[in-house]
Amino acid sequence: MVCIGSLNVDLVFQVDRMPVSGESVTGRGLERHLGGKGLNQALAAARAGSAVALVGAVGDDDGGTWMLGELAAAGVDSSGVARVGGPSGTALIEVDATGANRIVVIPGANDSVTADFAQEQVRRLAPAAVALAPLEVPPAAILSAMRAAKAAGMTTILNPAPVPAEGIPDGLLEICDIVIPNEHEATSITGIDVVDVDTAITAGRALMDAGAGSAIVTLGARGAAWVTREGSGHVPTYAVKAIDTVAAGDAFCGNLAAALADGVDWAHALQRACAGGALATTVAGASPSLPRLSEVNALIATGEVT
Ligand code: ADP
Repeated sequence: MVCIGSLNVDLVFQVDRMPVSGESVTGRGLERHLGGKGLNQALAAARAGSAVALVGAVGDDDGGTWMLGELAAAGVDSSGVARVGGPSGTALIEVDATGANRIVVIPGANDSVTADFAQEQVRRLAPAAVALAPLEVPPAAILSAMRAAKAAGMTTILNPAPVPAEGIPDGLLEICDIVIPNEHEATSITGIDVVDVDTAITAGRALMDAGAGSAIVTLGARGAAWVTREGSGHVPTYAVKAIDTVAAGDAFCGNLAAALADGVDWAHALQRACAGGALATTVAGASPSLPRLSEVNALIATGEVT
């Protein structure tokens, strides 16, 4: 499968308390993690056992070199990741003693992914069964990448996160076979206040009326609601001890795409996606929390986190 999206270096600063404006505080620790929705989803799919290629861009800094090395170690094909001048996408994340956070994200190289580049790379990487894209690179690049994916016969999956300030680009929903927003994104795109399974299904139908082939609305600890041309339903998630929900949606999307790319049927792919999302909440951070297929299968089989 091909994933088109952002790559970020997440720098996590642990502090006892956040500094106020003009103040310096001494931090307690510093961690560096892989981040960015594109990279997270590609890694989630690779850990779920799929052959994955990532399309995006990193800068010519140390962070870019580090991310490319980590992708190679994870078995993700990064031949579609451009190296451009300037900084890589970088998130500065401050976490205080209560677990509250403050985040500054510099898009850096992610902003340089152009429509032409994304389209060329998707064409080059075809044939692949599935194309998966979140929305942290310029929407015009996602639109052209998804057009190329659709023309090459791929199943196109859009995770409309974050929803661009100017809205979803015209023509994008119509070329997406599956659109996967969380409840906030579903509300923001459709104007329907998504608060439960019924309203999620109504929002899913609205996404299909707007052109999407099908829709899945993720509902955190309440699992996910889905709507296709054949019907609609709800998939419960798994009871886990959630400590950090960061990247739950990325794990959901990566696991769903990997399962569909491997020919798994809809019901079982949804189960894997929910199990992947649930497991991601049991470990702190984004990329460190993305589970392996063996853990996903064990949670589905036993209801236990291994
Ligand atoms: P996002 O991270 O995009 O906000 P959600 O919070 O809806 O997305 O989570 C995505 C999926 O992860 C959910 O559909 C669910 O399957 C799983 N999940 C999220 N939070 C929990 C939780 N507290 N317990 C179990 N599963 C969860």
